[in-house]
Amino acid sequence: MAKTASAHLDTLLQHTGVAEFDSARGSAPVALPSMRTSTVRFQNLDALERAQASKAQGDRSVTYGRAGMDTHAALEEVFCELEAAERAFLAPSGLSAITLAFFSVLSTQDHVLVADCAYGPVRYLDKIVLGRMGVQVSYSRATPAALESQLRPNTKMLYVESPGSLLFEMLDIPALAEFAKKHDLILAVDNTWGSGYIYRPLELGADISVVAGTKYVAGHSDLMLGAVMAKDPALIQRINETHYAMGYSISADDAWLAIRGARTLPIRMRQSAQNALEICEFLSSCPDVARIYHPAWPADSGHALWRRDCTGSNGMLSVELKFTHAAARRFVDALTLFGIGFSWGGFESLVQLVDHGSLKLHGYWTPNAHAVVRLHIGLESPQDLIADISQALDQAAAI
Ligand SMILES: *Cc1c(COP(=O)(O)O)cnc(C)c1O
Repeated sequence: MAKTASAHLDTLLQHTGVAEFDSARGSAPVALPSMRTSTVRFQNLDALERAQASKAQGDRSVTYGRAGMDTHAALEEVFCELEAAERAFLAPSGLSAITLAFFSVLSTQDHVLVADCAYGPVRYLDKIVLGRMGVQVSYSRATPAALESQLRPNTKMLYVESPGSLLFEMLDIPALAEFAKKHDLILAVDNTWGSGYIYRPLELGADISVVAGTKYVAGHSDLMLGAVMAKDPALIQRINETHYAMGYSISADDAWLAIRGARTLPIRMRQSAQNALEICEFLSSCPDVARIYHPAWPADSGHALWRRDCTGSNGMLSVELKFTHAAARRFVDALTLFGIGFSWGGFESLVQLVDHGSLKLHGYWTPNAHAVVRLHIGLESPQDLIADISQALDQAAAI
């Protein structure tokens, strides 16, 4: 399809990754088919050699199925539009996209600074693999002042997530980009929260953006997906080679589902965000609520940064309840419309009781005895969700 003239993401998301017209028939399917194949065959050796030469130059040229066919290429285009990136690389989960970013940048004896609010399993990657590979990792509040004191001569990368996992701590990405530039570090940002639609780290100065497509991009809690995006040609080359060397590959059917999810990303994200604000409004009137963590909520500590750097919000929020651990457990168990489970970004509301052991790792958290509950607000009626939260709060407090 002719490239659309609009720069508005809502339009681009409907016009990117569509099938080309068949020149003989003069027609094309509206939905690009899932191109399932493990291997590619060539008309003759010249054709194969042309494809290999172009691949060797770093172009997206396919000689074998592992690199991904047209459906994958279409999804890569969608991620490039979302993140204002030059190239996107697909990985079989969000966590594997994180490992791709780490392995593309870091070598043995290198040091990486990691924001203490980053997705918990990054610490597991460190514990199980990075340590064994001789990569040094330090965790820090992600402010230039705090990071400065942790710099080492071998520091190569700054890895952050904004807003952070669990408490949605907004980071000042432009300030962190300046810090990274000054100290010659690659700045990689986990942008799963924004997923390119409401927050664009590459435009704010980051070098790499990582997204768990499992969440809002796929949007229907039915597949696992990760993507790594970059703009700089040298960095793209490193990611491209590492991606190929490590064998990251995803199913064409999952790419197809993710493209379908991306078409409705704007309306799903907007609706979840609007519902979440209604839930915040309700929670703020509850005597059992001590604090709400949601950057779009005006009382949130990160609200000014959110206003400056984001174009929207989503359905994620955490709430501190003046409950004992036992009462918080009763609250979670009493909810009927919220599934108890990990993940988020799908159509459905979810709840997770956050353990204090994880919270203590976050410098943003002021240690206290309150229970913290993380909610993903889905596409249900917000009135129904409020009624559900209200009855669960009553049940939890009733003993
Ligand atoms: C879920 C999540 C991931 C990991 O994605 P998976 O697809 O579950 O591996 C990474 N970062 C953040 C912020 C997440 O919420």
